[in-house]
This record gives sequence, structure tokens and C-alpha cells, in this order.
Amino acid sequence: MNLELSEEQEAVRRLAREFTEREIAPYAAEWDRAESVDRAVVRKLGDLGFLGLTVPEEYGGSGGDHLAYVLVTEELGRGDSAVRGIVSVSLGLVAKTIAAWGTEEQKREWLPRLCSGEALGCFGLTEPGTGSDAGSLTTRAVREGDAYVVSGSKMFITNGTWADVVLLFARTGEEPGHRGISAFLVPTDTPGLTRREVHGKLGLRGQATAELAFDGVEVPASAMLGPAGKGFSVAMSALAKGRMSVAAGCVGIAQAALDAAVSYAAQREQFGKPIAHHQLVQELIADISVDVDAARLLTWRVADLVDRGQPFATESSTAKLFASEAAVRAASNALQVHGGYGYIDEYPAGKLLRDARVMTLYEGTSQIQKLLIGRARTGVSAF
Ligand code: FAD
Repeated sequence: MNLELSEEQEAVRRLAREFTEREIAPYAAEWDRAESVDRAVVRKLGDLGFLGLTVPEEYGGSGGDHLAYVLVTEELGRGDSAVRGIVSVSLGLVAKTIAAWGTEEQKREWLPRLCSGEALGCFGLTEPGTGSDAGSLTTRAVREGDAYVVSGSKMFITNGTWADVVLLFARTGEEPGHRGISAFLVPTDTPGLTRREVHGKLGLRGQATAELAFDGVEVPASAMLGPAGKGFSVAMSALAKGRMSVAAGCVGIAQAALDAAVSYAAQREQFGKPIAHHQLVQELIADISVDVDAARLLTWRVADLVDRGQPFATESSTAKLFASEAAVRAASNALQVHGGYGYIDEYPAGKLLRDARVMTLYEGTSQIQKLLIGRARTGVSAF
């Protein structure tokens, strides 16, 4: 793998960095306190092509390779994970999955709007009673003539109250477990679909996380994404790439933690000199720096494999597992460098730690990533 970025990749990273420094980072703390990012940021992300990266140009995307995608995701995550998550879900989990599995009609209907930011997508897999064991989901879609009628509920859905379309996973067959699950594209204004915002999150407070309830929601059979009974494969293919995006967001958090720790250590004085002169403070900073580099290299490896059409799922789990745990460590170490000031929201370390904490939970917890990696290495499934 060539670690030197191409001119196009450097240009897109510069664009994302400048945008983040101008339009996101200065407002991140305010959006966190207000429990909502400014929705205008979505259209700006669309205008810059960040909501259509890697989607083919003929469907309104900006083309681009997956390394460019992780570069942009890292920069957004460095500024505010709440904004980064909007892109990771609407583009990474929804638009890219429509591009991969959709019919021509589905692609024409949704991709141009999702790529421009005119519409947002959300990913409806988790339910109140099923998280890690997604194959046991209970939301049902019952065939009635040319339509399916959906009943059930979904929990913790990122972009849930903002989204225009939900990529929904529901049980259409009688087979147990992951067989018998199908995927659907459901407009969120369909009668019978209600949404309730989940409040009181530890982090990602600027992001709209919701519970979705489906009470006899009628969707046309043509809204099914991918073949009947293949919904679990659709979900797993989305998450395999999604984990690369989470990993890239974690690199952004860890980089922001490094920036904050270095800057604070240079100006804070104790024992008559800047704390950067104390070796144990340097140790904290060195540990963050190693985590940033290792997480970034693992993430770039996944992007490189995807772009070369190679298998990447285990490497994506590896990157997600390491980068998410590294982001938590890095943010905690940065907080330590700030001493007591790290504990108040005047400085960014506390928010970085709160935002990082969910990364080891969603899109498969750290334990689930270990089981996936263990299964790949041993050939034995512990599920
Ligand atoms: P559980 O599955 O109940 O797990 C609880 C604990 O048990 C964890 O530590 C887990 O690792 C452990 N555990 C479970 N099974 C095993 C096992 N076999 N071996 C060892 N340990 C195990 N979901 C969506 O569908 N779409 C979204 O957009 C979305 N966004 C989210 C946003 C936020 C802010 C949050 C908090 C969650 C979001 N989720 C979303 C849900 C998320 O993916 C789940 O929370 C996650 O998969 C874990 O499921 P759970 O919370 O039910 O935990």
C-alpha cells in the first residue's frame, strides 16, 4: 500500500479540514450544549460533495475512492463527532448500501437527494430487545397484495428524527434467526411511522437519536432493497464498510485529543516550567500519538483493500475495535494532561471523551468485533 496521498486525496482532505475549522469546530461545544447541531450544516456537507463521496457521479455522487472518504470522515470527526456521524450513517450506511443493492429505480429515487443533503437517511436495525443479536429482530413485514405491512419498533436510530428515509430491517419469513429478514426503504412520512427523540445521551448530544415505532406501516413491495430474505446480508455488508467509517471518526477524535493535549502542555506551567517539560506528561502525549498513528494506519488499510476490491470485513472489524478503544484512551489521556481544567467544558477533552465512549458500543460492540475477528482467524463461530 502506498501511504503517499494523491493530489486529489490531499485536495479533498484540505477542503474537509478548512470546512471543519471554519464551519464545525467553532460551534461544536455550543451544539453539544443545545443538543442539536445546526441543521444548515447538512446542506453545506452536501454542497461540498461529502454526502456523496464514493457514490457514482451518475447518481449525484462525487465519485471518489474510499481513502478520500476516510480522510474526510477523520477531519469531520476531529471537529465534531455529532456531524461526522450524520455523514457516516446517511452516506456510509444508507446511500452506499442503496448504491450496492438497489434497483435502478431505487437508486434514481434516493441517491441524488441523499448525496445533495436534500434528504437524510437512517439505518433501522437495532430494536429495544435486540442489539448485538440483530439476527433475532422481531419487527415484522407481512405481505398483503402488492405491499408489506410493517409493525414493530427500532431503538437508538442515528438521524432518526431528521431522516427522510429509513433503511429498515424486518422479518418477512417464518425462518428463525437471520434467515427470513428483508430490507426496505421506507419514507419517514409514511402513515403509521412515529418517531421519538432519545434524550440524555452521554455524548453525541448534537445528533438526533430516535426510537421509531411502526404501527401497520404500508410499504410497496417495490421498496424492498435486495432480495427477499437477504436483509441480514444487506445489513452486514453495510456494517462492514460502516465500521471503517467509525474507525476514521475515531482517528479524528484521537487526533483532536493529541492537538488539545500538545497545545495545553505548551502553555500550562507548573513547577516553574511548561508541563510539556515533565516527562510523565510527555508519556501521556506519546501514548496518544502512538494511538493516532496506529488507528489511522489500520483505517487506511481497510480503505485500500476496499478500493482494490479485496476482502476487508475482518480488517474493518480490526480497525474499528482498535480505533474506538484508542479514541477513548486518547481522550482520557488528553483530559489527564489538562488536569482539573479537563473536567470542565471550557476545554474540549471532556466532550472528546464523552463522544468517544459510544464508538466501542455501536456498529458492533468491542466484544462483538473480537468474536468476528476470532471467528475469521479460527474458523469457529462463537455466536
Ligand atoms: P447488547 O447487545 O444488549 O449488549 C450488552 C453487552 O453485552 C455489551 O457489552 C455486549 O458487548 C455484550 N454482549 C452481547 N452479546 C455478547 C456475546 N455474544 N459475547 C460477549 N459479549 C456480548 N443501531 C442502529 O440500528 N442504527 C443506528 O443508527 C444506531 N445508532 C446508535 C447511536 C447511539 C448513540 C447508540 C448508543 C446506539 C446506536 N445504535 C444504532 C445501536 C447500537 O448499534 C447498539 O447499541 C449496539 O449494537 C449494542 O446493542 P445493545 O445496546 O442492545 O447491547
